[in-house]
Amino acid sequence: KKIEQSVQKTRSGFFGRITAMFRSEDPITNELWDELEELLIAGDVGAENALKIVERVREKCEKKGFKFASEARSLLKSELVNRLDVDTPQYSERSTKPYVILVVGVNGVGKTTLIAKLANRYKAMGKNVILAAADTFRAAAIDQLQHWADRVGVPMISQQPGSDPGAVAYDATQATYNQQADVLIIDTAGRLQSKHNLMKELEKISNVVKKRWQYAPHEVLLVLDATTGQNGLIQARAFTQAAQVTHLALTKLDGTAKGGIAFAIVQEIERPIKYIGTGETINDLALFDGESFVNALFE
Ligand code: GDP
Repeated sequence: KKIEQSVQKTRSGFFGRITAMFRSEDPITNELWDELEELLIAGDVGAENALKIVERVREKCEKKGFKFASEARSLLKSELVNRLDVDTPQYSERSTKPYVILVVGVNGVGKTTLIAKLANRYKAMGKNVILAAADTFRAAAIDQLQHWADRVGVPMISQQPGSDPGAVAYDATQATYNQQADVLIIDTAGRLQSKHNLMKELEKISNVVKKRWQYAPHEVLLVLDATTGQNGLIQARAFTQAAQVTHLALTKLDGTAKGGIAFAIVQEIERPIKYIGTGETINDLALFDGESFVNALFE
């Protein structure tokens, strides 16, 4: 339901036209494929992706001898679902204790809000959650996270602005260990300007976690803003060079008509989307699943 609501703008934009095309009894023509490709590109699915999708669906239609656009519809849908289906290491959130999540992404994408939503989600599942304010670069980041921690009602570990993020991570692992918390969520600085420093910083935090539990964070969650389109792609590329990203969180999906960016991003970094942000409140979070997403686009 949340996924459905969050793609309203996308659906009423370019995807609505695709849906209409593939609902009709119009014959399948070259123009149909050209138009599909154009609409996919217009919806930020990405040129290369759009071409591949069209080629594959077209080929399958020819094999099956389909004559009408409406017949191609389910093939198109399953091809779109396929594009979102990529592998990543998975750990059981239930049986892994503590479950450690490192959250990365540039400022302004909705990272803090997402952490609050995650904390709230795990808390609602009956988990003890600890937040770590390891974005020590901006004083505001610490304050903002504290504000959310208070609202959600979970403890947050922090130090003075400017302190060593590794030291904050260390304190946080201690606290998690001592309190036998279930989930540790670590915020990190989103400074892409200095990729090398960012890489070192993230590595250091990971090593602190490894030293304590002999495993790296289970999730390195890259937060991307769906409304930034191609810019989001550039960020995604840069972050995958600086960190071992395992999952994506796509925020503000509700705020864009070009939700097709989801396809482009997944293909670009070959990691699955785990969460989507569907609004500004603490409950506006949904677990992503490709099939529901594509179904919602075709409603
Ligand atoms: P940060 O700088 O990355 O930590 O970003 P914030 O968490 O402070 O969020 C930046 C802005 O985006 C705030 O105004 C949030 O309310 C808004 N925001 C975050 N997530 C979503 C979302 O899923 N949907 C919408 N519409 N707004 C969001």
